[in-house]
Amino acid sequence: MKLAPSNRPVDRILADAVGGTRISAGDAHKLLREGDLIELGLAANEVRNRHNDPSVATYNVDRNINYTNVCVYKCRFCAFYRPPGDDEGYLLSTDEIGRKIEETLALNGTGILMQGGVHPDLPLSYYTDLLAELRERYPDVHLHAFSPPEVKFIARKERMSFYEVIGALKEAGLMSIPGGGAEILSDDVRKEVLAYSKTSADEWIDIMRQAHAHGLRTSATMMYGMGEGLEPRAEHLQRVRDLQDETGGFTAFISWTFQHDHTDMQDVPETFADEYLKTLAVSRLFIDNITHIQTSWVTQGKKIGQLGLQFGADDMGSIMIEENVVSAAGTAYRMSQDEMEHLISSAGYTPRQRTNLYERLVTREETAELAERYSHALTAQNRDLASPLPIVT
Ligand code: SF4
Repeated sequence: MKLAPSNRPVDRILADAVGGTRISAGDAHKLLREGDLIELGLAANEVRNRHNDPSVATYNVDRNINYTNVCVYKCRFCAFYRPPGDDEGYLLSTDEIGRKIEETLALNGTGILMQGGVHPDLPLSYYTDLLAELRERYPDVHLHAFSPPEVKFIARKERMSFYEVIGALKEAGLMSIPGGGAEILSDDVRKEVLAYSKTSADEWIDIMRQAHAHGLRTSATMMYGMGEGLEPRAEHLQRVRDLQDETGGFTAFISWTFQHDHTDMQDVPETFADEYLKTLAVSRLFIDNITHIQTSWVTQGKKIGQLGLQFGADDMGSIMIEENVVSAAGTAYRMSQDEMEHLISSAGYTPRQRTNLYERLVTREETAELAERYSHALTAQNRDLASPLPIVT
């Protein structure tokens, strides 16, 4: 995709975005290149407040479950995967996944985000059996699982279309699809970081299109700072906005920066907080058709994550009961629900827990019964995440 450069001054572009006039990918590129951090933040905050309640910031309680770290791909930015046959490779049993779900419920959680490496030996029936079993055991839990690279691999293995695979997963209990594996939706970059074969930019978009055609909502993500420059980021934003125009199926846009420890790309310079906040703000200004934008405290730390609420984000994402992918690359943060609410309050917003697809807000009264029922599942490791505070209504 070739970007048409923008010759418009930055203040004109900002005025358009704030006023509700759509800006071009060339404009977004110009903002990324020349925009002033504070001006971008102020403009993005106005747009955020047009899409969302200005007084509220949301979050959710779910858990990342990486059911396997075995992967046939070798993305250069990934510190998480282990090749097939490696001694450190694992595949969780259904009971182990169940225990993690029960602990999530004990912490007032409403769902799980489950994705793996791309394990070469797992047929479609593995995924459908797992979903059906979890649906049966935990009917109240939202199952957000299996990102586009997994869907593509299953489709190739089973000689099925993306649409057919997603249909079978949905039938078995899948409720939405995470936007993992997008990184930068520009094929030159994907080839450079060895992410092209797991899904090209067009394949990633098409899998999301097929999910939306099934009525499944999905998230859109962007992972940047791999030395790709600014133009591919604008291209990525364009692709996401275009598909949202077509289907309306994305619930949220979530971006974060490449974490390089233990990866094959440790020589790539770190992306600092100013660039993160700028990119967040430009995302909010450009993507005028996705309601929710998350700030990434998991990669930026709690304080910058909190600041993101003033740079276009309306949601802090999930508390992290467990996270394996970013932490494998050297960045590990944890947060209890109470700390999440404290961070949001101290940034000047009313904190509200939401459901996984942002359909509604959740109170602790609603989650209390399941939290009590599964309190035995709390591990010593995560006991500090349980709330000692009274129920918030
Ligand atoms: S990013 Fe995903 S697909 Fe790529 S190597 Fe890591 S686990 Fe495999």
